[in-house]
Amino acid sequence: MAKLEIHQFPCLSDNYGVLIHDPDSGATASIDAPEQAPIEAALAETGWQLSHILVTHHHADHTQANLPLKQKYGVTIVGNRADASRIPGIDIEVDDGGTYDFAGHVAQVMDTSGHTVGHITYYFADDGVAFAGDTLFALGCGRVFEGTMAQMWASLAKLKALPAETVVYCGHEYTQANAKFSLTVDPDNAALVARAGEIDALRARGEPTVPTTIGRELETNPFMRPDDPAIRALLGMADASDADVFAEIRRRKDSF
Ligand code: ZN
Ligand code: FE
Repeated sequence: MAKLEIHQFPCLSDNYGVLIHDPDSGATASIDAPEQAPIEAALAETGWQLSHILVTHHHADHTQANLPLKQKYGVTIVGNRADASRIPGIDIEVDDGGTYDFAGHVAQVMDTSGHTVGHITYYFADDGVAFAGDTLFALGCGRVFEGTMAQMWASLAKLKALPAETVVYCGHEYTQANAKFSLTVDPDNAALVARAGEIDALRARGEPTVPTTIGRELETNPFMRPDDPAIRALLGMADASDADVFAEIRRRKDSF
């Protein structure tokens, strides 16, 4: 089976849209549906025909084009059964720990609640790619709006356990601001310092910093590193639990 083809494009003010395409069947899914016009422009550019929307979470900047696209293209909308009432146009309900078969490409469905309750990540193990919505960002993580800090930490811990080479797509281009914050809690991390420089260069050229990989985040993203002794020392939390260190980092970012 041919690998999924993936096309990412910016939309709204700082969101990313992503199309995934199975070349054998022609099936094409939009990961979330932030904005209709850029999604249609991406379809025109690729020549792909939209057949599905895979929803990560209910927020408007991820679902507001669900119904217009469904009306126009008759797409099948996939989302979390546990949050079905908040996902416009949902047709297929998937469950944490279950799978969703997209044209023969099997996604593991992982509950990654915290940003919202009922947020899910789609992990295509054979394709080595995860669509993490607003759970994990490059050098960041989603703000904890609905869930608890402990829940968000448990969600990130699930993503930490994926293979390091897993390519991660996320919902927003927040990386440059995330890098500035990350350096305040992990200033002596040489990999982070180097990455911050690379990010500045990419953004100066107008290029995306997404996707990332699990491995890169494990090395440089403080939200994935609450077990790191240097971060713990800086926070004065040498003996705290990972969940508590994570929560302190998240609170600091909220008021950064
Ligand atoms: Zn969101
Ligand atoms: Fe979002």
